[in-house]
Amino acid sequence: MLLKGASVATHHPPRVTRADLRIEGDSIVDRGAGLRPHKGESVEDCTDRLIVPGQVCAHTHVYSALSRGMPAPRIAPRTFPDILRRVWWKLDEALDEESIHYSALVAAIEAVRCGTTTIFDHHASPNAIAGSLDIIRGAFSAVGIRGVLCYEVTDRGGRQRRDAGLAENDRFLSAIRHDPLARGLVGAHASFTLSDSSLVALGDLVRFHQSGIHIHAAEARDDVVLTARRHGCGVVDRLERHGALSEGSVLAHGVHLTTRELGRIAEAGAWLVHNPRSNMNNGVGHAPVERFGELAALGTDGWRADMFEEARAAHFGLRHRLGPAAPDLALRLLDGSQQLAASVFGMPFGTLEPGAVADLVVHDYRSPTPLTGSNVAWHALTGLHPGTVRHVMVGGRWICRDGSVSSVDVAEVYRRAARAAALLWKRMAR
Ligand SMILES: [Zn+2]
Repeated sequence: MLLKGASVATHHPPRVTRADLRIEGDSIVDRGAGLRPHKGESVEDCTDRLIVPGQVCAHTHVYSALSRGMPAPRIAPRTFPDILRRVWWKLDEALDEESIHYSALVAAIEAVRCGTTTIFDHHASPNAIAGSLDIIRGAFSAVGIRGVLCYEVTDRGGRQRRDAGLAENDRFLSAIRHDPLARGLVGAHASFTLSDSSLVALGDLVRFHQSGIHIHAAEARDDVVLTARRHGCGVVDRLERHGALSEGSVLAHGVHLTTRELGRIAEAGAWLVHNPRSNMNNGVGHAPVERFGELAALGTDGWRADMFEEARAAHFGLRHRLGPAAPDLALRLLDGSQQLAASVFGMPFGTLEPGAVADLVVHDYRSPTPLTGSNVAWHALTGLHPGTVRHVMVGGRWICRDGSVSSVDVAEVYRRAARAAALLWKRMAR
């Protein structure tokens, strides 16, 4: 397949060139101006269109897709632990196999409509643990996106559920070795809901599977305060102590980490994921994202996987806190998510060069102003949104054409999802 006549933009270093892209199998095999079609090759006219890499959401919880408009808790939460107890832990307790399936389908469909093609999901369903990651993987592959999945191990539901969570991570990591669209990490909730013995078990899984851990780290001050009170150390020290801070680990939020802790994370080769919309919505504080270093990525933490919207929030947050700031950091975070996906899948993401995965988005983007490498960050922040997404390709296959997700019957999925959501909310109210 030959994509002809587009402007092709990549995030870091920011670059825009006029180029044709040739796709074979699941990869980009050629890039250049004026590529001629081979015999029998299909040609897509991309004049007035902008091709960018499929975006990567580096931390989210797709189970929250059916929370849209759900009744508010009877007593309004005042603190972050309150928000967890009265809202999210009520929701995850009520999840069953059907609601896991439809929330993953809806989240995947909406991700594609936003031009996002890979999701790092952090899943919890305490009453439906075994096999839950396969349900999500099934939904993602039906839509055609990539997923990096894990089950959120915690002690909040007792020992039996903790062990079931560990087993689900172990089983999934063993099962998905050869799936081109799926990978796994070792999931864990957060230091303040994990006992020492759980962290030891998580560290064992990390070593056995040579994997990273995916965990919330210092999202709210409570994680830091409770960890210090109970264990006499910081969140990062505690992970290190139990061998759970491995290379390739994904630490979400990092709002209340110290400079020393940020340094330890970088030395370990672990990633920090900034989730600005969630941080603001939960009122947990502003992450020191300008000090996150090279291994920094962007996540949506339960919000729709619209990475340009999240990048805007990152940019606004930075300016709100620090005053004038270039838009480059937001673009660097988008690229960080690409590089995180590259390290997990072991394939080049985010470059749109020959050899890279053919995960890309064709935007309808007739720019009213010059578009160059030096200003592409502003075009990304002010010009790109779900409404400009026209076609989406993952692994060389179109999964969205002319703005419509083509891989599943979207109307039918939404109809069934609404029914599953009503039942889910009923269970939550019990
Ligand atoms: Zn999260």
